[in-house]
Amino acid sequence: MTKEYFAGLDLGGTQIKVGLCTPDGVEIWSDRFPSNASLGQEAILKALEDAGNIAFEEARKNDGEVGALGLGTPGVVDPDKGTIRFPVANLGGWHGTDIVGFFREKFGVPSVVENDANAAAWGEYRSGAGKGARNLLAATVGTGIGGGAVIEGELLKGAVGGAMELGHITWEPDGRACNCGLIGCMEAYSGGWGMAKEWGRRLGNAEAPGVSDLVQAGLSGDSLANEVLDEGARTLGAGMMSAVHLLNPDVIVIGGGIIDARPRHLELIEESLRSHLLPKALADLTVVKAKQGNRAGWIGAALRAAHLIQTDDLKKSGGGNS
Ligand SMILES: [Zn+2]
Repeated sequence: MTKEYFAGLDLGGTQIKVGLCTPDGVEIWSDRFPSNASLGQEAILKALEDAGNIAFEEARKNDGEVGALGLGTPGVVDPDKGTIRFPVANLGGWHGTDIVGFFREKFGVPSVVENDANAAAWGEYRSGAGKGARNLLAATVGTGIGGGAVIEGELLKGAVGGAMELGHITWEPDGRACNCGLIGCMEAYSGGWGMAKEWGRRLGNAEAPGVSDLVQAGLSGDSLANEVLDEGARTLGAGMMSAVHLLNPDVIVIGGGIIDARPRHLELIEESLRSHLLPKALADLTVVKAKQGNRAGWIGAALRAAHLIQTDDLKKSGGGNS
Protein backbone atom coordinates (compact mmCIF):
# COMPACT_ATOMS: atom_id res chain seq x y z
CA MET A 1 0.00 0.00 0.00
CA THR A 2 1.28 3.47 -0.84
CA LYS A 3 2.14 5.48 2.24
CA GLU A 4 1.10 9.10 2.61
CA TYR A 5 3.86 11.52 3.55
CA PHE A 6 3.94 15.26 4.00
CA ALA A 7 6.70 17.45 2.61
CA GLY A 8 7.98 20.52 4.42
CA LEU A 9 10.24 23.32 3.21
CA ASP A 10 11.90 25.92 5.44
CA LEU A 11 13.19 28.95 3.57
CA GLY A 12 16.06 30.89 5.12
CA GLY A 13 18.49 33.56 4.02
CA THR A 14 21.16 31.03 3.06
CA GLN A 15 19.52 27.60 3.10
CA ILE A 16 16.35 25.73 2.28
CA LYS A 17 15.76 22.88 4.68
CA VAL A 18 13.47 20.20 3.30
CA GLY A 19 12.07 16.97 4.65
CA LEU A 20 9.38 14.33 4.60
CA CYS A 21 7.41 13.09 7.57
CA THR A 22 4.44 10.92 8.43
CA PRO A 23 1.14 12.53 9.52
CA ASP A 24 2.40 12.09 13.13
CA GLY A 25 5.63 13.95 12.47
CA VAL A 26 8.01 10.99 12.23
CA GLU A 27 10.88 12.03 9.97
CA ILE A 28 11.39 9.91 6.84
CA TRP A 29 14.08 11.96 5.13
CA SER A 30 15.59 15.45 5.25
CA ASP A 31 18.27 17.50 3.52
CA ARG A 32 19.34 21.10 2.90
CA PHE A 33 20.19 23.16 -0.18
CA PRO A 34 21.31 26.74 -0.92
CA SER A 35 18.32 29.12 -1.02
CA ASN A 36 19.91 31.60 -3.46
CA ALA A 37 18.07 34.29 -1.49
CA SER A 38 20.32 37.12 -2.67
CA LEU A 39 19.47 36.39 -6.33
CA GLY A 40 15.81 37.42 -6.06
CA GLN A 41 12.34 35.92 -6.39
CA GLU A 42 12.85 33.74 -9.48
CA ALA A 43 15.99 32.13 -8.10
CA ILE A 44 14.31 31.44 -4.76
CA LEU A 45 11.26 29.86 -6.43
CA LYS A 46 13.54 27.70 -8.58
CA ALA A 47 15.46 26.57 -5.48
CA LEU A 48 12.16 25.71 -3.74
CA GLU A 49 10.95 23.82 -6.81
CA ASP A 50 14.18 21.79 -7.02
CA ALA A 51 14.07 20.96 -3.31
CA GLY A 52 10.39 20.01 -3.60
CA ASN A 53 11.09 17.73 -6.57
CA ILE A 54 13.73 15.90 -4.58
CA ALA A 55 11.23 15.44 -1.73
CA PHE A 56 8.70 13.90 -4.14
CA GLU A 57 11.43 11.58 -5.44
CA GLU A 58 12.36 10.56 -1.89
CA ALA A 59 8.69 9.82 -1.14
CA ARG A 60 8.60 7.40 -4.09
CA LYS A 61 11.85 5.76 -2.94
CA ASN A 62 10.19 5.21 0.44
CA ASP A 63 7.10 3.51 -1.08
CA GLY A 64 4.91 6.53 -0.67
CA GLU A 65 3.65 9.75 -2.13
CA VAL A 66 3.38 13.36 -0.98
CA GLY A 67 -0.16 14.13 0.22
CA ALA A 68 0.43 17.85 0.68
CA LEU A 69 3.28 20.32 0.91
CA GLY A 70 3.99 23.12 3.37
CA LEU A 71 6.43 26.01 3.36
CA GLY A 72 7.69 28.03 6.29
CA THR A 73 9.05 31.42 5.24
CA PRO A 74 10.25 34.59 6.92
CA GLY A 75 7.78 37.46 6.66
CA VAL A 76 4.11 38.15 7.16
CA VAL A 77 1.99 35.55 5.35
CA ASP A 78 -1.56 36.54 4.39
CA PRO A 79 -3.79 34.09 6.30
CA ASP A 80 -6.29 33.76 3.44
CA LYS A 81 -4.24 33.96 0.26
CA GLY A 82 -0.87 32.60 1.39
CA THR A 83 0.99 35.53 -0.18
CA ILE A 84 3.73 37.56 1.51
CA ARG A 85 2.28 40.85 2.75
CA PHE A 86 5.33 43.00 3.51
CA PRO A 87 8.90 43.19 2.19
CA VAL A 88 11.28 40.77 3.91
CA ALA A 89 14.91 41.59 4.71
CA ASN A 90 17.34 39.31 2.82
CA LEU A 91 14.63 37.97 0.49
CA GLY A 92 14.53 40.33 -2.46
CA GLY A 93 11.26 40.39 -4.43
CA TRP A 94 9.54 38.05 -1.98
CA HIS A 95 6.81 40.62 -1.23
CA GLY A 96 3.55 39.68 -2.97
CA THR A 97 4.74 36.26 -4.18
CA ASP A 98 1.84 33.79 -4.69
CA ILE A 99 3.70 30.78 -3.34
CA VAL A 100 0.65 28.55 -2.93
CA GLY A 101 -0.31 29.12 -6.58
CA PHE A 102 3.26 28.37 -7.66
CA PHE A 103 3.34 25.10 -5.70
CA ARG A 104 -0.07 24.05 -7.01
CA GLU A 105 1.12 24.54 -10.57
CA LYS A 106 4.49 22.80 -10.08
CA PHE A 107 3.50 19.93 -7.81
CA GLY A 108 -0.27 19.45 -8.22
CA VAL A 109 -0.87 18.77 -4.53
CA PRO A 110 -2.54 20.96 -1.89
CA SER A 111 -0.06 23.42 -0.42
CA VAL A 112 0.14 25.77 2.53
CA VAL A 113 2.50 28.54 3.51
CA GLU A 114 3.08 29.87 7.01
CA ASN A 115 5.39 32.30 8.70
CA ASP A 116 8.41 30.24 9.81
CA ALA A 117 8.06 30.99 13.53
CA ASN A 118 4.37 30.05 13.40
CA ALA A 119 5.23 26.83 11.56
CA ALA A 120 7.83 26.00 14.22
CA ALA A 121 5.27 26.57 16.99
CA TRP A 122 2.86 24.22 15.22
CA GLY A 123 5.58 21.55 14.88
CA GLU A 124 6.25 21.66 18.63
CA TYR A 125 2.51 21.51 19.30
CA ARG A 126 1.85 18.51 17.06
CA SER A 127 4.92 16.35 17.57
CA GLY A 128 7.38 18.12 19.85
CA ALA A 129 7.70 19.48 23.36
CA GLY A 130 4.27 21.14 23.30
CA LYS A 131 2.24 18.06 22.42
CA GLY A 132 -1.08 18.04 24.26
CA ALA A 133 -0.89 21.70 25.29
CA ARG A 134 -4.13 23.64 25.60
CA ASN A 135 -2.44 27.00 25.01
CA LEU A 136 1.09 26.85 23.68
CA LEU A 137 3.50 29.78 23.55
CA ALA A 138 6.69 29.17 21.58
CA ALA A 139 9.81 31.33 21.56
CA THR A 140 12.93 30.94 19.44
CA VAL A 141 16.16 32.57 20.60
CA GLY A 142 18.61 32.97 17.75
CA THR A 143 19.86 36.02 15.90
CA GLY A 144 16.40 37.46 16.57
CA ILE A 145 13.53 36.41 18.82
CA GLY A 146 10.76 34.44 17.11
CA GLY A 147 7.32 33.82 18.57
CA GLY A 148 4.33 31.64 17.87
CA ALA A 149 1.20 30.47 19.67
CA VAL A 150 -1.37 27.71 19.35
CA ILE A 151 -4.52 28.64 21.23
CA GLU A 152 -7.07 25.89 21.92
CA GLY A 153 -5.95 23.93 18.88
CA GLU A 154 -5.71 26.85 16.45
CA LEU A 155 -2.54 28.50 15.22
CA LEU A 156 -2.76 32.19 16.10
CA LYS A 157 -2.15 34.23 12.94
CA GLY A 158 -3.72 37.67 13.36
CA ALA A 159 -5.63 39.89 10.96
CA VAL A 160 -2.91 40.07 8.30
CA GLY A 161 -0.77 37.17 9.56
CA GLY A 162 1.27 39.40 11.82
CA ALA A 163 0.46 38.03 15.29
CA MET A 164 3.01 36.92 17.90
CA GLU A 165 5.89 39.26 17.11
CA LEU A 166 7.37 38.37 20.47
CA GLY A 167 10.71 40.04 19.74
CA HIS A 168 9.04 43.37 19.08
CA ILE A 169 7.05 43.91 22.24
CA THR A 170 8.33 46.96 24.11
CA TRP A 171 10.95 46.42 26.77
CA GLU A 172 12.30 49.98 27.16
CA PRO A 173 10.18 52.69 25.45
CA ASP A 174 13.09 55.09 24.94
CA GLY A 175 15.75 52.42 24.80
CA ARG A 176 17.90 50.80 22.13
CA ALA A 177 17.11 51.02 18.41
CA CYS A 178 15.76 47.78 16.99
CA ASN A 179 16.50 46.31 13.56
CA CYS A 180 12.78 46.62 12.77
CA GLY A 181 12.94 50.43 12.90
CA LEU A 182 11.21 50.80 16.27
CA ILE A 183 12.78 51.82 19.55
CA GLY A 184 13.10 49.69 22.66
CA CYS A 185 12.01 46.26 21.37
CA MET A 186 12.83 43.24 23.51
CA GLU A 187 14.85 41.75 20.64
CA ALA A 188 17.37 44.60 20.86
CA TYR A 189 18.14 43.36 24.40
CA SER A 190 17.67 39.60 24.22
CA GLY A 191 18.05 38.61 20.56
CA GLY A 192 21.47 37.35 19.47
CA TRP A 193 22.19 40.44 17.37
CA GLY A 194 21.18 42.79 20.21
CA MET A 195 23.36 40.99 22.76
CA ALA A 196 26.32 40.83 20.36
CA LYS A 197 26.00 44.55 19.68
CA GLU A 198 25.93 45.29 23.41
CA TRP A 199 28.95 43.05 24.01
CA GLY A 200 30.82 44.97 21.28
CA ARG A 201 29.83 48.28 22.87
CA ARG A 202 31.12 47.22 26.29
CA LEU A 203 34.34 45.96 24.70
CA GLY A 204 34.75 49.34 23.01
CA ASN A 205 34.60 47.79 19.52
CA ALA A 206 33.47 49.93 16.62
CA GLU A 207 31.84 46.95 14.90
CA ALA A 208 29.42 44.49 16.48
CA PRO A 209 30.90 40.99 16.88
CA GLY A 210 29.07 37.92 15.57
CA VAL A 211 26.44 36.16 17.65
CA SER A 212 28.38 32.88 17.55
CA ASP A 213 31.53 34.69 18.76
CA LEU A 214 29.56 35.96 21.75
CA VAL A 215 28.14 32.53 22.59
CA GLN A 216 31.54 30.85 22.16
CA ALA A 217 33.20 33.45 24.39
CA GLY A 218 30.54 32.81 27.03
CA LEU A 219 31.02 29.05 26.84
CA SER A 220 34.78 29.43 27.26
CA GLY A 221 34.21 31.40 30.45
CA ASP A 222 34.56 35.02 29.33
CA SER A 223 32.92 36.94 32.16
CA LEU A 224 31.83 39.99 30.15
CA ALA A 225 30.27 37.78 27.45
CA ASN A 226 28.42 35.82 30.12
CA GLU A 227 27.26 39.02 31.81
CA VAL A 228 25.71 40.24 28.53
CA LEU A 229 24.18 36.83 27.75
CA ASP A 230 22.75 36.49 31.26
CA GLU A 231 21.21 39.97 31.07
CA GLY A 232 19.66 39.09 27.72
CA ALA A 233 18.19 35.87 29.10
CA ARG A 234 16.73 37.62 32.17
CA THR A 235 15.29 40.36 29.97
CA LEU A 236 13.60 37.81 27.75
CA GLY A 237 12.07 36.05 30.75
CA ALA A 238 10.78 39.28 32.21
CA GLY A 239 9.56 40.55 28.84
CA MET A 240 7.70 37.32 28.08
CA MET A 241 5.58 38.08 31.11
CA SER A 242 3.42 40.32 28.89
CA ALA A 243 2.71 37.53 26.42
CA VAL A 244 2.03 35.02 29.20
CA HIS A 245 -0.45 37.34 30.91
CA LEU A 246 -2.26 37.84 27.60
CA LEU A 247 -2.37 34.22 26.43
CA ASN A 248 -2.36 32.20 29.68
CA PRO A 249 -0.34 29.29 28.20
CA ASP A 250 0.01 25.96 30.00
CA VAL A 251 3.15 25.12 28.03
CA ILE A 252 5.94 27.44 26.93
CA VAL A 253 8.41 25.90 24.50
CA ILE A 254 11.73 27.69 24.12
CA GLY A 255 14.31 26.76 21.49
CA GLY A 256 16.78 28.17 19.01
CA GLY A 257 20.52 28.18 18.44
CA ILE A 258 21.45 30.04 21.64
CA ILE A 259 19.26 27.76 23.78
CA ASP A 260 20.83 24.65 22.20
CA ALA A 261 24.36 25.96 22.77
CA ARG A 262 23.89 27.36 26.28
CA PRO A 263 21.77 25.37 28.78
CA ARG A 264 22.13 28.16 31.38
CA HIS A 265 20.21 30.49 29.07
CA LEU A 266 16.94 28.56 29.37
CA GLU A 267 17.34 28.25 33.15
CA LEU A 268 17.72 32.02 33.51
CA ILE A 269 14.80 32.77 31.19
CA GLU A 270 12.51 30.48 33.17
CA GLU A 271 13.69 31.79 36.55
CA SER A 272 13.19 35.39 35.47
CA LEU A 273 9.81 34.68 33.86
CA ARG A 274 8.42 32.88 36.90
CA SER A 275 9.52 35.69 39.21
CA HIS A 276 7.49 38.18 37.15
CA LEU A 277 4.19 36.29 36.83
CA LEU A 278 0.86 36.62 38.57
CA PRO A 279 -0.17 33.51 40.57
CA LYS A 280 -2.92 32.62 38.06
CA ALA A 281 -0.38 32.67 35.20
CA LEU A 282 1.97 30.41 37.20
CA ALA A 283 -0.67 27.79 37.98
CA ASP A 284 -0.13 24.67 35.82
CA LEU A 285 2.60 26.40 33.78
CA THR A 286 5.38 24.26 32.27
CA VAL A 287 8.45 25.68 30.56
CA VAL A 288 10.25 23.19 28.31
CA LYS A 289 13.08 23.13 25.80
CA ALA A 290 12.03 22.76 22.16
CA LYS A 291 12.45 19.25 20.75
CA GLN A 292 12.54 19.82 17.00
CA GLY A 293 15.90 21.59 16.87
CA ASN A 294 16.86 22.93 13.45
CA ARG A 295 14.18 20.86 11.72
CA ALA A 296 11.42 22.86 13.49
CA GLY A 297 10.63 24.97 10.42
CA TRP A 298 10.22 22.24 7.81
CA ILE A 299 8.54 19.73 10.07
CA GLY A 300 6.10 22.38 11.30
CA ALA A 301 5.25 23.36 7.72
CA ALA A 302 4.77 19.69 6.77
CA LEU A 303 2.50 19.17 9.77
CA ARG A 304 0.48 22.28 8.82
CA ALA A 305 -0.06 20.63 5.44
CA ALA A 306 -1.05 17.38 7.17
CA HIS A 307 -3.43 19.22 9.48
CA LEU A 308 -5.20 21.01 6.66
CA ILE A 309 -5.68 17.74 4.79
CA GLN A 310 -6.99 16.12 7.97
CA THR A 311 -9.43 18.95 8.59
CA ASP A 312 -10.47 18.72 4.95
CA ASP A 313 -10.08 22.44 4.33
CA LEU A 314 -7.81 21.95 1.36
CA LYS A 315 -9.82 19.16 -0.24
CA LYS A 316 -12.89 21.38 -0.22
CA SER A 317 -11.10 24.36 -1.70
CA GLY A 318 -8.80 22.39 -3.99
CA GLY A 319 -5.75 24.07 -2.53
CA GLY A 320 -4.88 27.35 -0.91
CA ASN A 321 -3.77 28.43 2.47
CA SER A 322 -5.81 27.83 5.58
ZN1 LIG B 1 11.74 45.66 16.85
